[in-house]
Amino acid sequence: MTHEIAVIPGDGIGQEVTPAAVKVLEAIETVDFEFVEGEAGDAVKDETGEALPQETREIAADADATLFGAAGETAADVILPLRDVVGSFANVRPARSYPGLDAVQPDTDIVFIRENTEGVYTGIESEITEGVRTLTRVITAEASRDIAEYGFDYAKQNGYEDVTIAHKANVMRQTDGLFLETAEAVAEDRGADYDTALMDALAMHLVMTPEEYDVIVCPNLAGDMLSDLSAGLVGGLGLLPSANIGEENALFEPVHGSAPDIAGKGVANPSAMILSAAMLLEHLGYDEEGDQVRTAVESVLESGPRTPDLGGDAGTTAVTDAVIDEL
Ligand code: ATP
Repeated sequence: MTHEIAVIPGDGIGQEVTPAAVKVLEAIETVDFEFVEGEAGDAVKDETGEALPQETREIAADADATLFGAAGETAADVILPLRDVVGSFANVRPARSYPGLDAVQPDTDIVFIRENTEGVYTGIESEITEGVRTLTRVITAEASRDIAEYGFDYAKQNGYEDVTIAHKANVMRQTDGLFLETAEAVAEDRGADYDTALMDALAMHLVMTPEEYDVIVCPNLAGDMLSDLSAGLVGGLGLLPSANIGEENALFEPVHGSAPDIAGKGVANPSAMILSAAMLLEHLGYDEEGDQVRTAVESVLESGPRTPDLGGDAGTTAVTDAVIDEL
């Protein structure tokens, strides 16, 4: 069976790390892929006026899964609609430390399960009058239930013991109140153990004692920020993969953006993107192959070569080829 994969490199280092992940997938002999490339991001907007052309939407909608690199200034115009195209409701962001890397917190293994359809990322903003602007934060019971169910299932299926529900319901009483009560009801329905944590205090605890956390279920913005914070604990944004899971489709992307400061230099760390490809393999049912890719990345992270963000002097291609050699 051949799996059709939409490949959308986008801008900046997306153009460098996405081909690296495709090269790794091509090296897996037990799975057949057909890659269909689509354009998105700043460059295509400059050319055509549209950051996410209709043709790219269709490529993603028709594919079995999508690999997306990054978008620059147009990120919101690309990734938010793309997540819509694949019907994604859960953003899965594992933050793990790896042996041999000089991480701030070397004992971290946390998976953020971030709601990614609503919250403050709905784009409902307006200017009431000059100097006064508002944003509407939308929380629904349905999306809160979906993400909590996904989080508790994920913890069970992946052998994680603790689930923490992150919220700020003491201040955002209506919106996060609904998120919290819905997630707690899901836990109680399942007879699952859980903790709750105020998201601001949680940020501090994550820095000081990340080893105390397993799976964290979060509203949209909190999940975005806390997972980036945790990237800093384990060695930087070059290491964090993510999956956007929908009922029937899914999109895989690194947590990092287009990193314009290092784009075009050939030094971007491809690990986050290659680990995203490992999540894609698992999503398609190739657990063994996904595990092989992850183990190969871990081995290269431990013994090198490494890109400059991890203290090395190797380029994206050398690291990618080393991962393929390990496979
Ligand atoms: P964008 O606006 O697209 O989000 P950004 O520069 O604001 O771009 P990121 O792309 O997430 O945000 O990058 C933040 C910093 O992290 C970059 O300046 C870069 O130094 C570093 N970084 C991110 N990804 C990588 C990577 N894959 N390899 C090496 N460094 C990276």
